Formats: sequence, structure tokens, C-alpha cells
Amino acid sequence: MSGLNGKVVVITGASSGIGEATARLLAKRGVHIVIGARRLEKLEAIASAIRTEGGSVIVQQLDVTDLKQMQAIIDVAESHFGGIDAIVNNAGVMPLSPMDALKTEEWNQMIDVNIRGVLNGIAAGIPIMKKQGFGHFLNLASIGAYEVSPTAAVYCATKFAVRAITDGLRQEMAGQGIRVTLVAPGVTESELAGSITDNEAKELMKEYRRIALPASAIAHAIAYAIEQPTNVDVNEMVIRPVV
Ligand code: NDP
Repeated sequence: MSGLNGKVVVITGASSGIGEATARLLAKRGVHIVIGARRLEKLEAIASAIRTEGGSVIVQQLDVTDLKQMQAIIDVAESHFGGIDAIVNNAGVMPLSPMDALKTEEWNQMIDVNIRGVLNGIAAGIPIMKKQGFGHFLNLASIGAYEVSPTAAVYCATKFAVRAITDGLRQEMAGQGIRVTLVAPGVTESELAGSITDNEAKELMKEYRRIALPASAIAHAIAYAIEQPTNVDVNEMVIRPVV
């Protein structure tokens, strides 16, 4: 029996890319998964494929910027499965642009989804995890949480913030049986670059995408952290393509 079998894991942003790959992998390994994102039809299609293979999955439409919706997906997971072993705060957006393009709406969107969304996952998760006396937060950052590059100032700022929040959370959860993991991927195949509207940023991204990792590589890293014995907390994982 693997350290994953029978666990209950909530995954945000599971309608594509890393979240979808993580959902598919964990379901194959016997995890009850609860998947959320805004595009319900994509979630339903993924859930249907998972069920065909014998997996256990619940779908919930979710906008992570809304704390009530985040609370609702946690409540659904708890009422169906009696508890939650882990929350993967994965939902994110990346409309890159140079700062002087003044795409202030896109800056705000990144702040809302990438920072507020993770905070909402934490806010919804802490009470149930404290009540249970166990739990695991896995927050998706990026190598952009360690270094900044042109067109990515605001995106990297949101990921620096996720890294700071995650480390603070880890320190504060000490002694409560709650594990905290930062997952920091390098460039990975997904729909993430699809939100870029700026031409300069689109061109730069084409170069990066040539070396992209498959989303399954990040899913395996997430599975590794979750399946460790409960006294093992994998704090930080940086996963880069070989160049
Ligand atoms: P995708 O664009 O493929 O996936 C992003 C997911 O987030 C989608 O399922 C999307 O679903 C969801 N999402 C976006 N906004 C919201 C919202 N407001 N509420 C709920 N869900 C939302 O990209 P990735 O798989 O690459 O991204 C996953 C995470 O990995 C992100 O945090 C990203 O920053 C991070 N990352 C990605 C890297 C890469 O190169 N791909 C590198 C480093 C980090 P929907 O539109 O249906 O809501």
C-alpha cells in the first residue's frame, strides 16, 4: 500500500497543466481527489476519464479569489470523505508584460489569483487541519520565486510572496502535525502562457517553452511530498528542466 492510497487531496486549478496532471496521477495512486477551477466542463471531462480508470474524484467549480468558494470546496471534501490530507494551492495566471506597458488590470489579476488565491486556500484549510491535528499545504510557486527576469516583475513578485507566505506558514504550523511544502517548477508544458497578451513577452516565452518539462514531472514531485511518512515535511522543491 503506498503512502498515498486512501488519502484525500484538494487541488485548485485542476482543469489543465500541472493541476490536471497531479489530479490524474494522484487518482491513479488511490487518492480521493477533489478538483476545482472555473472551467467546469474541463473538470467534468477530466473527472470522467479518471472515473473510467476506477479513480475517485469530486468536481467543484471554484474561483480561488473568492474565499467563500474556497471554503465551499473544502467543505465538500470534508463532508464526502470525512477529512482532508492535503490542499494543493496550484491555481495561477501569468500574463507577462514589461512594466511600462502599464497592464495594471493584469497586475491585479496576478495578485488576486496567485497571492490572494493561495491565502484563501490557507484560510479555508487551517481550521479543518487544526481540528484534525494533521494536514499538508502544497503551494505552487515557481523558479520566479527566486529570480526575476524582464517582463516577469509582477508575476515573480507574486511568487516571491507565495514563497514568503509558505515559509511563514511552515514556521507557524510547527508542533501541530501540519506539513507545508513549496513547489517551485521551472518552465513546464501547460496553458499558462496562453494568458500573455503582450507581444514582447510572447516572443520571450517561445524560447523558454522549447525546454519545457511535462506537467507530469511536477505531479510526481507533488506526489513524492504527499506520500512521505507524516513526520517528514518536504519544505521546498525546485524542479528545473535539464538545459
Ligand atoms: P495552466 O494555465 O495550465 O493552469 C492554471 C490553472 O489555474 C487552470 O486550471 C486554471 O483553470 C486555474 N485558474 C486560473 N485562475 C483561476 C481562478 N481564479 N480560480 C480557480 N482556478 C483558476 O498553468 P500551469 O499548470 O502551468 O500552472 C499551475 C501553477 O504552476 C501556477 O500557479 C503557475 O504559476 C505555476 N507554475 C507554472 C510554470 C510553468 O512553466 N507552467 C512554472 C512555474 C510555476 P480555469 O481557467 O478553469 O479556472
